[in-house]
Amino acid sequence: MKIEDIPQVLKEIEKAGLTRHVVDYRMKTATLAMDRRGKEYIVFNSNDYLGMTHEKEVLEAARRAISFGTGSGGSRLVSGATFEISDLEKELCKVKHKDGALVFNTGYMANVGVLYALSGPGDVIFSDALNHASIIDGCRMARAKVVVYPHGNMARLEELLAETPCDGERFIVTDGVFSMDGDICPLPDLVRLKRKYHARLLVDDAHALGVIGKNGGGTSDYFQEYDVDLQIGTLSKALGAEGGYVAADPLIIDYLKNRSRPFIFSTALPASIGAAALTALKLLQAYPQRFTAKVNGNTTYLRNHLKESGVSVKEGETPILPIMVGDEKEGVRLAEACLKRGILLSAIRPPAVPKGTSRLRLTVTAAHTKNELDQVCQVLIEEGSHLWKQ
Ligand SMILES: *Cc1c(COP(=O)(O)O)cnc(C)c1O
Repeated sequence: MKIEDIPQVLKEIEKAGLTRHVVDYRMKTATLAMDRRGKEYIVFNSNDYLGMTHEKEVLEAARRAISFGTGSGGSRLVSGATFEISDLEKELCKVKHKDGALVFNTGYMANVGVLYALSGPGDVIFSDALNHASIIDGCRMARAKVVVYPHGNMARLEELLAETPCDGERFIVTDGVFSMDGDICPLPDLVRLKRKYHARLLVDDAHALGVIGKNGGGTSDYFQEYDVDLQIGTLSKALGAEGGYVAADPLIIDYLKNRSRPFIFSTALPASIGAAALTALKLLQAYPQRFTAKVNGNTTYLRNHLKESGVSVKEGETPILPIMVGDEKEGVRLAEACLKRGILLSAIRPPAVPKGTSRLRLTVTAAHTKNELDQVCQVLIEEGSHLWKQ
């Protein structure tokens, strides 16, 4: 592409109604945002599932640790390693039932850094069609053969495993909880296939940690199935901090420390972030009622309330609530109407989802009050009344 073509490209994006803008807010609490004019909004599109971004103990831990420097000053292998990030890795090992763990600066970098260091020409990556963009990009960078299987279709995955020649390593890669619909991957079937075809299994638990499984441990805990080779995730969703991680066999971790370029060539996260994530991780295990059970209770409450009111919320078990609207323009209109009434939620349109399946996407957190849940429900009932079957 030529730089001089950019105006034309932007025009095409605009014509398709897909132009993106950055809108600034200040988060006054985990669920209350304020824009620059001082107008307040209840937030239903954040991944802060447990409200950890504003949890008192987490804030205090971060404040204490920020006195060790606002930045880390270097990469982990040079001068940027801190007690806090290494302690966090030890805790991640426990939570993810692995003997090794490595923190990256983002979940995106964890996926790219792992896939691209562990696979290459000769290897085959079998990837679910609805996997997160960072997995897709990791596959691209890896230069391995990539075979995309239809979302959650285990019969088709098995055919592909059987028929695709491979001299190197086979990897099966999946989101634990899928980000658009909030559905959970069929882990027991994936493990059965990985064993049968001698593949390695990578599960990205970005939306699962803190949310599903005993004490919010994630997808493996949910199914009580631990034969997962690489447990990947983020510190930026339920842990309310920033960063990503991989938990795996220590040999794999040692290899990544030596070969994963996003790990090697990026300045380490500061101690304050490590302290925040570590504190959040300990809190969610110590107080399941206050966090994981709470977000799930809030989700059930809102889901039932919406269903009883005729709102077309998709069935599911996680705090990601897709509300099916169908028509693209209708989805955008409804999201804008909610915004006017002080509710922030996302309209999801093609190409993110198939045509005619446009939807609103609501995320529920442990920090939402009953009153806030009732408010979003009321606004949706009123603003979308022509859409809901009575
Ligand atoms: C959000 C997300 C990531 C990226 O994590 P960041 O820490 O935000 O970079 C990776 N995978 C999945 C499935 C995600 O939902």
